[in-house]
Amino acid sequence: MNYPSTAGMPVNEFTTEGYIALAFPVLFPTGKGDYLQARPVPISRDKYFKYLMHYEDGRFAKDPRFRYFAMNTILRHSAISKSNIYIKNMNIKGETLQELQNRITENRSLLYNIMAYYTTLRSTSAYWHRRSNELTHMVDQLGKATIFFTLSAADYHWSDLFRLLISEWDIDDLTDNERRQVMHENPIIVGYFFQERAHILINNVMVPLFKVKDYWFRFEWQHRGSPRVHGIMYCSDEPQVDYNKLSNDDIEILKSYFDKLCYAINPMALNTDVSVHPSKIRFSDVTSTNYAQDLSNLLNAFQRHTKCGSHCLRSKNNVYKCRYNFPHDTSNVSMIDDENGYFTFKPKRNDQYIQTYNNIITQVWRANTDCTLILDLKAVISYIAKYASKAEKTSKSYLDFLNDLINAKSQDDLARSALTKIIVSCVSERDYSAQKVAHILMGWPLYSSSRSFVYVNTNVSDWHKLEVIYFL
Ligand SMILES: [Zn+2]
Repeated sequence: MNYPSTAGMPVNEFTTEGYIALAFPVLFPTGKGDYLQARPVPISRDKYFKYLMHYEDGRFAKDPRFRYFAMNTILRHSAISKSNIYIKNMNIKGETLQELQNRITENRSLLYNIMAYYTTLRSTSAYWHRRSNELTHMVDQLGKATIFFTLSAADYHWSDLFRLLISEWDIDDLTDNERRQVMHENPIIVGYFFQERAHILINNVMVPLFKVKDYWFRFEWQHRGSPRVHGIMYCSDEPQVDYNKLSNDDIEILKSYFDKLCYAINPMALNTDVSVHPSKIRFSDVTSTNYAQDLSNLLNAFQRHTKCGSHCLRSKNNVYKCRYNFPHDTSNVSMIDDENGYFTFKPKRNDQYIQTYNNIITQVWRANTDCTLILDLKAVISYIAKYASKAEKTSKSYLDFLNDLINAKSQDDLARSALTKIIVSCVSERDYSAQKVAHILMGWPLYSSSRSFVYVNTNVSDWHKLEVIYFL
């Protein structure tokens, strides 16, 4: 068999008809169905790839490379179309890079206009930078939130998920390898299941349970690719006290309120004799007489911080300490303490290793959660700086982007090609897990907030005209 010949001309993804089918011949065995193929009604790239991901035999979603190719194509084309809009609006089509750089030097507000386009590219560091600004404004206006929460995934165990993934086998008979394989082949279903489950828990359980009036939360993927949600909530029935001058009465009022929200009590002794992982059992199958045992089984399975590792150990003067301060002292009473300059609530505790939890959330969600009460505005500000705006480690930072633009050199000397190149580079250099690819590819929300934000550009001249009209 002869080695296939190679064409002399490289393919052009904008014009070469059939280039996707050529790259993935197993997925397109007849060569038909390419994006650039002539069709009566044009279709956007987003819709084209989403359709393929939902294709009935699942071949596109299961392919380990196609989903990355699809996401990379969508992100790059979204970046190109955004830079084209900017080039048109700023009238820099024929401008050289040097001319644009001179304009930026004279008028720094131009940079903010360019950044406004960059921040709309989902999942980039600038995107999260803008979200953290929004959250800072929210906290400025609403004050301290009541609860920090985190919801991790036990997708490996959740029976409802495996009922969606496979129908022909008995779920209980699946080996660990088979579970891993099925999940790996179906990232769209796994991702959809997690985000729907999180939205339903937050809206249908947490909001009414905690009497939530405002919230903000985001999705995040840990290094193994496992998703989680974290955020803050404002509860409408939180006692209003002056945290700068807490009286003894205030402390008692707060303790009795917080005692009902967050616990560190293991209701039963350690029980290692559990034949089925408790996350595999559905909450609706737990009888009311078994609630305490079920809660205890869940806490023992995933809510005890017994192993410190690189994720939590921090070195101070060459002494490694758990940053969550495990193991904690047990206590028969709850306390409000001043710890490292922050007020913190410490619930009653009978287990040194248990992470604070809310029993209803733990039993309904059936995976590791965190429920920490907030007593200090500084803690919220620190959360925003450390976690809310966290982008991927390899993501280009806000400042890198600005430096690239100011120091760019363009081969053909045109501002538009340099700008497009820099913007495209922002979306094409990160590591993505299969589930994160699914989330981004399907256009599912990366964050959610009870408040919406409106941006007013005060740099444009039209704004001043409006002011004049107003005063007339
Ligand atoms: Zn630790």
